[in-house]
Amino acid sequence: MKKYVLSIDQGTTSTRAMLFDHSGDVVGMKQRETKQSFPQPGWVEQDALEIETTVRELLVEVLAGAQASAEELAAIGITNQRETTIVWEKATGKPVYPAIIWQSKQSNGICERWAAEGLGDTIRARTGLVLDSYFSASKVRWILEHVDGALGQAERGELLMGTMETWLIWCLTGGKHVTDYSNASRTMMYNIHTLSWDEELLAAYGIPRSMLPEVRSSSEVYGEVELNGVRIPIAGAAGDQQAALFGQACFAPGDVKNTYGTGCFLLMNTGTRAVASKHGLLTTIAWGIGGRVEYALEGSVFVAGSAIQWLRDGLQLIERVSDTELLAAEVASTEGVYVVPAFVGLGAPYWDMNAKGAVFGLTQATTKAHLVRATLESLAYQTKDVVMAMQEDVGLLPGSLKVDGGASVNGLLMQFQADILDMTVERPAVMETTALGAAYLAGLATGFWEDQSHIARHRAVNGVYTPAMSDSRRAGLYGGWKESVRSTLGWRGVR
Ligand code: ADP
Repeated sequence: MKKYVLSIDQGTTSTRAMLFDHSGDVVGMKQRETKQSFPQPGWVEQDALEIETTVRELLVEVLAGAQASAEELAAIGITNQRETTIVWEKATGKPVYPAIIWQSKQSNGICERWAAEGLGDTIRARTGLVLDSYFSASKVRWILEHVDGALGQAERGELLMGTMETWLIWCLTGGKHVTDYSNASRTMMYNIHTLSWDEELLAAYGIPRSMLPEVRSSSEVYGEVELNGVRIPIAGAAGDQQAALFGQACFAPGDVKNTYGTGCFLLMNTGTRAVASKHGLLTTIAWGIGGRVEYALEGSVFVAGSAIQWLRDGLQLIERVSDTELLAAEVASTEGVYVVPAFVGLGAPYWDMNAKGAVFGLTQATTKAHLVRATLESLAYQTKDVVMAMQEDVGLLPGSLKVDGGASVNGLLMQFQADILDMTVERPAVMETTALGAAYLAGLATGFWEDQSHIARHRAVNGVYTPAMSDSRRAGLYGGWKESVRSTLGWRGVR
């Protein structure tokens, strides 16, 4: 009797194995920190073999912890930190270099070279991405240029590349070299319109086609892994943000999810239409299932939950981040105070790397409560900026915003979010939406769950916030925010 789907969530800071039952509830979880190394300023790397070992151990541990047997597993799904790149030898399975993490900057120089060659527009048009070292392509090329003999080996067809799910599937299934549409769309090598590796871009980058995995749907059996003597299908894969979009059941065009973590990650489902953004949002593949590929627009806010951490650690205004909810509730409004947490510039839709953070509207009557409230509200305003940009690009008005991530437990923030967006905000009962999304993808492929509409119908919600603000107040408050942001753009203050 199949009772569970197991999800592997291989993230930047931790690797988890989670067990979900048929209701989508978490029945087991084991987690291990992922070690990072910083060989030079700006470089971030991880040990791919160590991650593989950790995953194998967690698979066994999560079953033992939940007193479940491998026979009860319907399938395994994998979700992963996106863009992180591994290159290994086909014959030995040995990585030729550590995994280069998405944030890592060692391939900046390669991107500058490609920009000088005029590749930026082609990349934008074909991959939906902006030319940046964040994505996998320049990381692969960097390894080929910096590891002795690697280029020759790659040209002879002896090396393989993969993002994290590709690496794990290859290890666990004994050599299936595959990826899914969502992960392929983050490599800056995949043409999201023709749904094929872009031969011209590969030639321009100098990356042999033979290194690349086969691109498969996000929900199908890729191979099997032996666990406690039982063979279990690995049947779902998606990058972490896309998996969260799926786990939130954002299946219809216009559905949006926002993850409030250190930063915010917003994705809007745009259905079978790949929408090019006029506001600097990324166009990406949400998933491909049963021969149908769906797209998403993606925007991120650099500083969100980390602004709350700044209240605690930088300003020492609060002891715990959760104190912000009660403190902010001491005042009915910020009384004109705005915090623009442009600590590292501003992302979409402003894209100003020189913007600096600022506090506006101070008077003698301003208290700690106003400042805390204004900082919380800045998460909601920044989210609105991105939602508005998506709305303009797509021409669809989202019905609701589905939320998750650490700061989404803050009820005051969620109510303000609903008010300022004039949109219902929904928080799911299962907050582990990323792992759940991968589980759904795997469970759908193996018949554990019937279909997507079954999943959407059974999605449990534990917080619904409905807008209760007048239009004129909303317009006034948001106008004040826009004015504050304008004042921070291109800031050239004395240092
Ligand atoms: P990440 O995955 O990026 O590490 P999490 O989803 O774990 O992030 O969320 C952590 C972030 O959420 C932190 O930046 C923290 O400041 C913020 N946070 C957590 N709880 C609250 C709360 N009750 N109110 C406001 N912010 C919170």
